[in-house]
Amino acid sequence: MPVINRIAGISDAMTEWRRDIHRHPELAYKEHRTAGKVAELLRSFGVDEVVEGIGGTGVVGRIRNGAGPSVGLRADMDALPIHEQNSCEHASSANGVMHACGHDGHTAMLLGAARYLSETRNFQGDVVLVFQPAEEGFAGAKAMLDDGLFERFPVRNIFGMHNMPGLEQGKLRVAPGPIMAAADNFKVTVQGKGAHGAMPHQSVDPIIAGAAIVQAVQTLVSRTSDPKRTLVISVTQFHAGDAYNVIPDSAELCGTIRYFAPETGEMVRKRFPEVCETVARGLGATAEVDYQRGYPPTVNHAEETAFAGRIASEITGEAVTTEQMQVMGSEDFSFFLLERPGAYAWIGNGDSASLHNPSYDFNDDNLAIGASFLARIAEDALRATD
Ligand SMILES: [Zn+2]
Ligand SMILES: [Zn+2]
Repeated sequence: MPVINRIAGISDAMTEWRRDIHRHPELAYKEHRTAGKVAELLRSFGVDEVVEGIGGTGVVGRIRNGAGPSVGLRADMDALPIHEQNSCEHASSANGVMHACGHDGHTAMLLGAARYLSETRNFQGDVVLVFQPAEEGFAGAKAMLDDGLFERFPVRNIFGMHNMPGLEQGKLRVAPGPIMAAADNFKVTVQGKGAHGAMPHQSVDPIIAGAAIVQAVQTLVSRTSDPKRTLVISVTQFHAGDAYNVIPDSAELCGTIRYFAPETGEMVRKRFPEVCETVARGLGATAEVDYQRGYPPTVNHAEETAFAGRIASEITGEAVTTEQMQVMGSEDFSFFLLERPGAYAWIGNGDSASLHNPSYDFNDDNLAIGASFLARIAEDALRATD
C-alpha cells in the first residue's frame, strides 16, 4: 500500500500550507499566526473539536467517530532564530526567524492527515491532533501536559515524526528504545582569590581550578560511566579574567551533557557536582554548580514502534529497518513518551542542508508520504473491528 490516493490528491494544498507557514515563521510561544491558521484549517475540515491556547500557543483537534480508544498524533509548530539564506519564493519574510528544522512540514503533514481522517472517518474512536508550540528548547510539549492535555484529551498512545536530512527522501525509519539524547546544561562558578599575575602565591587561582575541573569531569565519561552507555560532557564556555597581569577572583564554566539511559543521568547529576566541588576544594577554591535538567531522552516503546514500523513498511513498500538511528540531539516529544506509550519516527529529507542550517528547507515530496503514515497509524490503531 503506497501513499493514500486521497491524500496524494491534496498534495498541492499541503504544499501551499507548508510554504505559507514557512514564509511566516514564529518563535517559541509566539506561534500565534501559525496556531490560528492550524485551528482555522481544522475547523474547515470538519474536525469535531478544536481548542486553542493549550500550553500557550498549542492547538488540539479531536475527531470523534463512535465509541472506541483514542490515539494521539503530534506535530510541532515553532521556528528558530536563524536568518534564512534560501532565496526561494517561500523564503522567510521575518528577519532572523526561520523554519530551519522543518516544523512547517511536520505541521502540514498532520494537517493533511487531519483533513483525510475527518472527511473519511474510517475508524472507531477518537483521533487527537496535537499541534505543540516551542519544541526548540522551550518544552512546549511539557507546557501542554502541564496544561492538562491528556486529562482533557485522553489518548491510549501517541505518535510523532521528524524529518532527517541525509536519509533518502521519503524513507521512514522507526526503532525501539532510546533514539534521541537527554540534554542537560551546567554552569560552574569557581571562586578563588585574585592577585597580581606575578605573585601567584598570594592568589587562589580560579583558572587553575577551572582547568582542573575541565579535565576531571571527563573522567565521568571515561572512568565512571559504563563504557557501553553513551555519555557526552562538553565544556563549551570558560570565562575568566580581563588583564595580562591579573589573576582573577573567579571563573565561570558552562556546557552541555548528553546521554540516553536514565541511570546515566542519575549518576551524572550526582557525580558532576561532587567532582567540581572536590577538585576546586583540593586547590583551595570553591565551585558552585548550577545543574539544569533539560529534555529527557526520547525513548520509543517496543509495541508502538513495531506497530509504526509495520505501517511505515506498508506506506513505503519496503522493510523498515529497526536498526538504531540514535541522534545526540534532543526532542521534547520525550515528555509525551514519559506519559503514554508511543513512537517517534524519522522521514528522510534527502540530500538537503542539515537541520538548523540557514540553507535548510523541508522537502515537499514528503508531505503525502508523512500524512499517509500518520493517517494509517490512526486508522489501524482505531480499527473498527477491534
Ligand atoms: Zn530543531
Ligand atoms: Zn525539530
